[in-house]
Amino acid sequence: MSFESLGLSHNIISSVKQLGYLKPFPIQEQAIPVILSGKDLMGIAQTGSGKTACFVMPILEKLQIDVVKRDRNIEVLVLVPTRELAIQIDEVFRAFTGNLKREIKTMAVYGGVSINPQMKGMLGVEVLTATPGRLLDLIKNKALSISHIQHLVIDEADKLFQMGFEDELRELLALMPKKKQITLFSATLNDKITEINNLLSIKPVVVEI
Ligand code: AMP
Repeated sequence: MSFESLGLSHNIISSVKQLGYLKPFPIQEQAIPVILSGKDLMGIAQTGSGKTACFVMPILEKLQIDVVKRDRNIEVLVLVPTRELAIQIDEVFRAFTGNLKREIKTMAVYGGVSINPQMKGMLGVEVLTATPGRLLDLIKNKALSISHIQHLVIDEADKLFQMGFEDELRELLALMPKKKQITLFSATLNDKITEINNLLSIKPVVVEI
């Protein structure tokens, strides 16, 4: 199986080659076509499985051909439990934005650092990776809006709930449009994850490796 056969275009494949990826990992083979098709997906995968590139590649693939300018809104929101993960995911997005059909600005925001530079850096951001608490602070400060997002990714959903972010997630969901594509990743499949799917009102395609 090749990256081309998954439906990714040469713009994304150029970055794949630059990164030295030879062929898709199993989770990528299964998840990328589903995400490209617009369906909701729940991936059960551990760190190290290649789960980040799983959503980064198809999301950028779709976003680069989206030429309708919507006043520079945030189109893609990735929610994560920790600052380290936010930084790491934004780095993967950046690794794939170099060869796209148009420029796409990405950013990571998280707590524990000053909010002002994050507020100032928000202009033109289309792909935002965020921890829930800081995201709510930024919204309350009117630095950004999530009312037009097209795609919501929740990474390490199990950890997000273990860390007690459920209330923040509910608050954030109420600020998002009803119609959006959802991609969820979790290391484990348990009752809590079923609860999250109910909260999100989705019946996702499940991919497990
Ligand atoms: P992740 O599970 O997303 O944290 O990814 C684990 C590591 O695998 C990262 O260092 C990625 O750059 C790398 N990686 C992801 N996909 C591939 C691939 N298809 N071939 C080789 N390395 C990859």
